[in-house]
Parts: sequence; structure tokens; C-alpha cells
Amino acid sequence: MSDWIDLRSDTVTRPTPGMRDAMHQADVGDDVYGEDPTVRSLERLTAGMLGKEAGLFCASGTQSNLVALLTHCQRGDEYIAGATAHTYKFEGGGAAALGGIQPQTLPFEPDGTLDLDAVETLIKPDNVHFARTRLLCLENTQDGKATGSAYFRTARKLADRHDLGLHLDGARYFNAVTATGETSSAIAEPCDTVSICLSKGLGAPVGSVLVGPEEFIHQARRWRKVVGGGMRQAGVIASAGLYALEHHVGRLSEDHEKAELVAAAVNARFQGAAEANTNMVFVKLPGGEFERLIDHFQRHQIRINRNRWVFHLDVTFEDADRIVEAIAGF
Ligand SMILES: *Cc1c(COP(=O)(O)O)cnc(C)c1O
Repeated sequence: MSDWIDLRSDTVTRPTPGMRDAMHQADVGDDVYGEDPTVRSLERLTAGMLGKEAGLFCASGTQSNLVALLTHCQRGDEYIAGATAHTYKFEGGGAAALGGIQPQTLPFEPDGTLDLDAVETLIKPDNVHFARTRLLCLENTQDGKATGSAYFRTARKLADRHDLGLHLDGARYFNAVTATGETSSAIAEPCDTVSICLSKGLGAPVGSVLVGPEEFIHQARRWRKVVGGGMRQAGVIASAGLYALEHHVGRLSEDHEKAELVAAAVNARFQGAAEANTNMVFVKLPGGEFERLIDHFQRHQIRINRNRWVFHLDVTFEDADRIVEAIAGF
């Protein structure tokens, strides 16, 4: 695949030589005993960057979100989330299957937020007929769309009025930080808990971190063990996450630039067909054109799923130029 450009997702990145070096040299111990210094450093660094008290290294974003839901809610409780939210649609129904937690969904707005007035109408009154609405779960970025901290401050007020927790699925949190130009803690500040992914645009091979208050993370640590996330010498992989936070946050803006370049090329060919949101380009083409484009890209050694093209650190600016040329020749 070395000459191939892979736009299917930002999860396809492989660890860089510097990251592999860091993994090779990682100081490790048994993390279930709390003795892995590298995992502890990663948890501390992530919590610090997001302005939270504590962090919990998880095997995946799915595990991190699940552990958050299990900690925020009890059996028969309910969380409110977007109808296409990762926590609802793409995590195997884990909250319901493992926690007896029911989702209440509503569609995302075109900007990737949830309409907070609509959310408020969905919160169930305290009455034996109803599930207890306990948590509002938001996503940033959502389909690549970044939302600034002002929205989350408004969501916080809503959560406080109804005694709800506020969890942010921030799988691509630092893409949102990059796009909004806010400090690394501003968006997290109004939220109780945030889950970030190290294995997306940050380029680590594996891992997510859940951050929040000390006492919450203490309880979440138990749930992480329950769902099989108690890892032993996990510093070997946590070191990659540490390296990513130290070296790959500042470069996310380059992925956003590449997305803009490629979206402009698509729009020059098919006016209004492409929209760039942070590191993603969403493309709308008439029916059969996608099949033709996928074939055409294949010949240029460019891999896409279909309408969502994702930029990451294994797609260079030269690769972006190659994609632009391929589009011009389509
Ligand atoms: C990728 C992703 C996750 C977590 O996915 P894993 O593959 O389990 O790490 C969670 N939320 C969103 C929005 C994501 O894109």
C-alpha cells in the first residue's frame, strides 16, 4: 500500500518512526496495579490539556464512551444523543446491552449540534412511568464539523437546570480545538467528561482517554475493568498516545488545509459538490458518478469509501496534489 493514498478514515495511520522509538523506550509496569508510569503520564497530560482533574486510558473510543455512560447512568436511566451519534449508532448498542441504559435520540442540526430547545422537550419528568433522563451526550467534531465552547456553555446551563450530566464524545476533540482556535480546555470546560481518541488524526495505533473529575474517573476505572479494559504493561501503547499529544496536535491544521485543497478541486469540477469540515471532505455526486470516480481513483492509487474523504498524517501535501490532479483528470 506504500504508494496508495488512503482516504477511508484517519484511523488508517501507522505509527511514525519517532512514535515507534517512544514505544520501544517506554517505561512500563502493571497498570491494573496503577504501576505503569507511562499510562499515568498520558492520563495526567490529557487531563491537564483538557483542564480536568483525572484521566483514564481506554482501549478504544467505544470503550471510553461506554465506560462514561456506565458511570454517568444506572439501569433504567436514559441518555440523550444525536440519532447518528457514535455513542448511539456505532457502538453496538453497548449502553443498552451492558448497562440497561436507554437512548433518546434526536437528529443533529446541519452544523453538527443538537437543538437545545428540542433536547429540553425530550427530558422526561420525574414520574414512575418514565425512564430517568440522566445524561446529555454531545459530539465534537460531528461529521467533521467543529463547534466552539459557547454552545457547550449553553448546554451546561440546560444540564444544570435538569440535573443532567454532560458527556462529550470528542473523538476528534483536537480537530475542533484547531478549527475554533480556542484553548485546549475551553470546549471541555463546560462538560463533565470528555472522551478523546488517540488513534484518529493524532496518529497513535490504539487508545482513547476519558477525562473528568477525580471521583468520576475512580468509578470509571472499575467499569473499565468490568468491560475488559484493565490492561497490564499498557505503557507500550500509551507511549504512542503521549508522543501523539506532544508532536501531532500542532500539525492537525495541515490536515484541514489538505481537505480544503481537495474540496476546492472537486468544486472546480462539480460546482458545490464538496464541503470541507476540519479534516474531512463530504462529496455529493449524482448516482453512477461515484462508481466511476472510485474506479478512476483506483487507477491513481487513491482509496475512498465513498462520499467521506478523511485527511490525516499519512496523506502528505504531495499526496493532496496527486488527488487534485486526479480530480482534474476525471
Ligand atoms: C472513532 C470514533 C469513536 C471511537 O471509535 P473507536 O473505533 O472505538 O476508537 C467515537 N466517536 C466518534 C465520533 C468517532 O469518530
